[in-house]
Amino acid sequence: MKSEGGKRLLGLICLMAMISFTACLRAHGNDIDTAGDPKKPVDKFEWHPLRYDSTKKYIYLSFDDGPQHGTVTCFDLCKKEGVKASFFMVGLHTAQKSDGKQIVSMIRDGYPEFLLANHSYTHALGKYHSFYHHPLQAEEDFFQAQDFLHVPYKIVRLPGNRSWVRNGEVKATDLVHPVAHLLDSAGYNVIGWDAEWHFRTKSARPVQSATRMAAEIDNALACGDTHVPNHLVLLSHDRMFQHPSDADSLAKLIHILKQNHNYVFETVDHYPGLKKPHSGL
Ligand SMILES: [Zn+2]
Repeated sequence: MKSEGGKRLLGLICLMAMISFTACLRAHGNDIDTAGDPKKPVDKFEWHPLRYDSTKKYIYLSFDDGPQHGTVTCFDLCKKEGVKASFFMVGLHTAQKSDGKQIVSMIRDGYPEFLLANHSYTHALGKYHSFYHHPLQAEEDFFQAQDFLHVPYKIVRLPGNRSWVRNGEVKATDLVHPVAHLLDSAGYNVIGWDAEWHFRTKSARPVQSATRMAAEIDNALACGDTHVPNHLVLLSHDRMFQHPSDADSLAKLIHILKQNHNYVFETVDHYPGLKKPHSGL
């Protein structure tokens, strides 16, 4: 028969075990509650600068405005072709789409082949002048997207705007400069673009053929007509590739570019001269 002291000790041990078990369950529950378990892939977001090969030219495919119809097509296609790509995503589009959070998580978890980046929460609701005219509200909009989407790095693209903010460099128009400066002070990099695959306003279908787009890319790199020589950021939009024939155009562009063995596909966190982009997620 156990003594009173022994029983008390046993009771205390049981109580402590229950408390730690409950705390463990709660912590696990928190992980599941957050969008796509952002804590799980944190380790792989340990960021390292890239060593550039001077004999190569770097292409940064980027897709804007997702999640939208077309996002998964772009992701699957780039994965199948083994090329890296960056997705600048929008908080509101994520909230409005039933599978929005899963798609964002798929992109985030796809690192280092795929990069999730910040394209604001509201996308300025299409009213760009008013958005940039209120810099503090605009900055807050990016912070909201950063938190909501669990964006791993401090990398944004401004909606409807081609500004650049890197280490010690802010390149923006007078209207946008205050927002760019605020983001710079908060440790963010802003990525513009060098070439754009345009789309038709109503149908969202690509304007240039794949062959034409590849020629524009070749030409810009050959002539040094890029923000940084030998590095080219291509802007396109997820929704351009929702039709199978347009997805074929994207595949064709990638095939053409891959034939040039001097081209390397990278994600924009490896664009030259960025401030160390880790957001500390
Ligand atoms: Zn956009």
